[in-house]
Amino acid sequence: MNSSYLLGDSTTSEISPLALNLEQATGLIVERAKQLVIRLIEDRGHDKPPFLPAEYAHLKDIQIVKADLDETSAVLLRFQDGYVIKVNQNHNLARQNFSCAHEIGHSLLRELKIELNTENIEYRTFNPQAPGRAIAKARERLCDAAATELLMPEFVFRKYLAGFGVSVHSIERLANIFKVSIRTTAIRIAEVSTEPCLALLWLLRAGTKSKALQLAWCLGPGRNSRGKANYMPVHTLAKHTSTLYKAYQDDGPVKSSKLFKIDSATKRLPMESKGFGHGETRYVISLAFPDR
Ligand SMILES: [Zn+2]
Repeated sequence: MNSSYLLGDSTTSEISPLALNLEQATGLIVERAKQLVIRLIEDRGHDKPPFLPAEYAHLKDIQIVKADLDETSAVLLRFQDGYVIKVNQNHNLARQNFSCAHEIGHSLLRELKIELNTENIEYRTFNPQAPGRAIAKARERLCDAAATELLMPEFVFRKYLAGFGVSVHSIERLANIFKVSIRTTAIRIAEVSTEPCLALLWLLRAGTKSKALQLAWCLGPGRNSRGKANYMPVHTLAKHTSTLYKAYQDDGPVKSSKLFKIDSATKRLPMESKGFGHGETRYVISLAFPDR
């Protein structure tokens, strides 16, 4: 364990934990992740991707061990002389990278001693365990935010995205360069793109005769948008006769347009879609562009 870690730990341990809402806590942990990115870039002398969990683990004296973990993605174990991350060796490398970075996120969370304020976390039940569960879920989201910054540092990712162009064509190339999954890459594009951009995931609707795609999620534009417009497609189902469905059937990218709700108004947005994966795990990612 290096001295700067010990120093950070001992100076913060006397301060009582801060009660923060999720937004403040996210800002804090992402800032901590950014500091670690800078340390890594200084240490290795360049800012070229990929940014692998093993490199961060080395900086923080964390050991990464591949293991058989059944359903679990990874676990963080704390010993007297430091942390050990056990990661599921049966998962693909992109997933292992995210799992490890997420566990490094947990170690950052412990250093920061963040205490979440329950008031701003939603739970709609009188179950006495619900607030605890909501906080546990929120902590996982914080670690995901840290993992995203560690693997795809904002300023580096934005540079590569600008080079390749904000398009579905770029998703696979960026995923290969940063060694992350297609889905996390699409989400990151929506998060950091300077041009407002939405990322959508479509999955095959299960259990019905007529084939159709069902919207699983729609994310962004995040902090780059002016105001807090909340875009959602008016129709969350794409029938087998639709242009969008062609992206599921064929490998090439498909251009279409879709009606989106923006607060109380609706607007037709141009959209690019592409299918990924095979068989039962096949899915479609779309990017939609509010300003085009
Ligand atoms: Zn976790």
